[in-house]
Amino acid sequence: MTNSWQQTLNWQPNQQQQQQFQHLYELILQGNQQLNLTRITDPQEFWEKHLWDSLRGILPQKQFISSLSGTASVIDIGTGAGFPGVPVAIALPNCTITLVDSTRKKIAFIEQLLTKITLTNAKTVIARAEEIGHHPQHRQTYDVALIRAVGHPSVCAEYTLPLLKQGGLAVVYRGNWTAEETKSLQNAVKQLGGVIELIDQFTTPLTNSIRHCLYLRKITNTPDKFPRAAGVPTQKPL
Ligand code: SAM
Repeated sequence: MTNSWQQTLNWQPNQQQQQQFQHLYELILQGNQQLNLTRITDPQEFWEKHLWDSLRGILPQKQFISSLSGTASVIDIGTGAGFPGVPVAIALPNCTITLVDSTRKKIAFIEQLLTKITLTNAKTVIARAEEIGHHPQHRQTYDVALIRAVGHPSVCAEYTLPLLKQGGLAVVYRGNWTAEETKSLQNAVKQLGGVIELIDQFTTPLTNSIRHCLYLRKITNTPDKFPRAAGVPTQKPL
């Protein structure tokens, strides 16, 4: 789809990965005819805003997120059409990626997509983050939790931190970011058993748009009361 991976991420997809990215793009365009999956359909824009952006949160931080060099278990909350989780699953074939969304139709689309692009290290769950955050099969079991475009930063923290093992990392993908937002997020993250470890600001390679990734480290168990009941995190962010 493009040759700029090496220059911008210091990473080069192999031929199979390139084919999977291309196939992913084509299937999303097809899926868009029935489902409202994405407004981004131009191939360059798709590369920058979906593929590159998904991987930018992860690949340059592989040393920092040490588990990703091995067989980390990763969860993507509110994956929608599969971002950032599907590109991450393509790029990190040794990791296992769980793609979660509350919308049945989107998960049904992703299930078909995973089969068509032969992506065997990703699986899907239809659920709300507030539910699986209390489920023993999911709570405190993941090394890394990804979340992009799902809401207020404190809501993202409440959805992801309960799912992490101690020492695990939540990656919250954002556009613009301010110092005031850091202050209010710090308070929420503390209540959930975490700390803000890094706020990484960068620009996208084609349109020079500003982006931020927030890295939240879980340092102690999340109190049982979190996540709160469905809808409460968005109505009353911490
Ligand atoms: N992460 C994708 C991306 O960046 O392209 C999709 C973002 S889309 C704006 C938000 C998605 O989050 C939707 O697919 C929605 O169904 C899902 N979502 C919202 N609240 C959720 C919750 N509480 N639990 C699980 N999924 C949720």
